[in-house]
Amino acid sequence: MTEQRTYDFQRQIKTYERADVVVIGGGPAGTAAAIAAARCGRKVILLEKSGQLGGMGTLGNVSIFMPIGNVTGIYRELIGEVLASYLPDDHDTSIAPQYSPFVLRQYLNEKMKKEGVEVIYHTEFIGVVKEGDQLQAVVASTREGLRAFEAAQFIDCTGDARVAIDSGVPHTSGREQDGLTQPMTLMFMMQNTGKPVKPFLPEGCYYYEKVSDLPQGRHLYWERGEDGQLLVNMTRVKGNGATIKDTNYAETEALRQVFSIVHYLQRNGFETYTLSHVANQVGVRETNQIRGLYTLTEQDVVSGRRFADVVAQTNYEIDIHSPDGSKTTDERHVSGYDIPYRCMVPAEVTNLLVAGRSISATHVAMSSMRVQPTCYALGQAAGIAASIAIEDACDVRSVAIEKLHARLQASDVRLYKPAAYV
Ligand SMILES: Cc1cc2nc3c(=O)[nH]c(=O)nc-3n(C[C@H](O)[C@H](O)[C@H](O)COP(=O)(O)OP(=O)(O)OC[C@H]3O[C@@H](n4cnc5c(N)ncnc54)[C@H](O)[C@@H]3O)c2cc1C
Repeated sequence: MTEQRTYDFQRQIKTYERADVVVIGGGPAGTAAAIAAARCGRKVILLEKSGQLGGMGTLGNVSIFMPIGNVTGIYRELIGEVLASYLPDDHDTSIAPQYSPFVLRQYLNEKMKKEGVEVIYHTEFIGVVKEGDQLQAVVASTREGLRAFEAAQFIDCTGDARVAIDSGVPHTSGREQDGLTQPMTLMFMMQNTGKPVKPFLPEGCYYYEKVSDLPQGRHLYWERGEDGQLLVNMTRVKGNGATIKDTNYAETEALRQVFSIVHYLQRNGFETYTLSHVANQVGVRETNQIRGLYTLTEQDVVSGRRFADVVAQTNYEIDIHSPDGSKTTDERHVSGYDIPYRCMVPAEVTNLLVAGRSISATHVAMSSMRVQPTCYALGQAAGIAASIAIEDACDVRSVAIEKLHARLQASDVRLYKPAAYV
């Protein structure tokens, strides 16, 4: 084994640009955070390590918005602009629209231009420049080498809490008892060709005979509209998508499963379907959670807890694809609960918020809050809160909740069931 050495790594790094708010990660949380901050009049830079926006929703080919029982804010606007036929009259209605990840990708590119957000693609955050408890800049690997991006406020929407962890914010990963995270899934699509397709099984793949042989031990797919497209969520690879070893294994193992499942489906009811698209990367459900000012718990979720500093509301179920390699999924209905602002606020840094799936939540609580519409809602609140912190020259820990609520309301966010706040 290679000797484990450590190195000091010092460089003079040029600043590429300064903004009021730098958002890192352009998934549901990051795009909403960037739009929200820009609408508050802030200069916003959004750094994205891939060549597209939408996070798991496009890059991971997720392609469905799960129902959260509150279609509001930027998420509602997005539905109205891209999927208008699904737009409910009321906010507190559940919808689960299936969409084209390619159309969403195009929509988000155009949306950012309209909103005046500067998106810098192929730019991967690698470290923070911190003075005391304040971030000065983030350093990223760009197409032109390492560059620094300065800001008054930073919002970590990497899904992995990468910025927070590098800033010294404590974090956890996976189940409390053993650290195991939900497994990864490489999503893919098949297309009905209208004529028989010869099943093909490339070298290194599996021959699945029956349902119980499949990685999830079940069928999980959706047909979209009338266009003969099948969205398939049936691969499953145990591991933590924030580790080198597990990610390496997952990318190759999941692709073997894709071809094996296609071969199985072509012999079992989808004889005229061909593989038409494989996601750009394996989908990652769960990696790191920060430990923020408040940690959302299973008890909060199942008891329908309300919080005075609510910023997002959801009734999406507890949904845990088994982390231990078994073929089960723990699905439990929940009636609805609040997510407080404090789940996005680290105690250790004055000008950093964390939005999206890596907020402060336990393993079970994150399994419910992790879906896209909730991440859009959290991102929107984080973008507004970062702007208030600039306006009031205050620490993110001291943002006035009444002001945040008023701004959210003015931005068409509706938070229901305001009774019994604790
Ligand atoms: C297989 C699978 C199926 C799912 N099914 C559904 C579903 O049906 N419906 C639903 O609503 N939700 C579903 N989800 C959950 C949902 O897609 C995610 O939880 C959600 O996208 C999280 O949003 P986010 O913005 O927090 O993070 P992500 O979507 O993970 O986005 C993070 C973004 O940050 C970027 N990034 C990461 N690191 C860096 C870095 N160092 N520098 C710069 N950029 C960086 C990434 O490239 C990415 O664009 C599913 C997830 C998976 C994996």
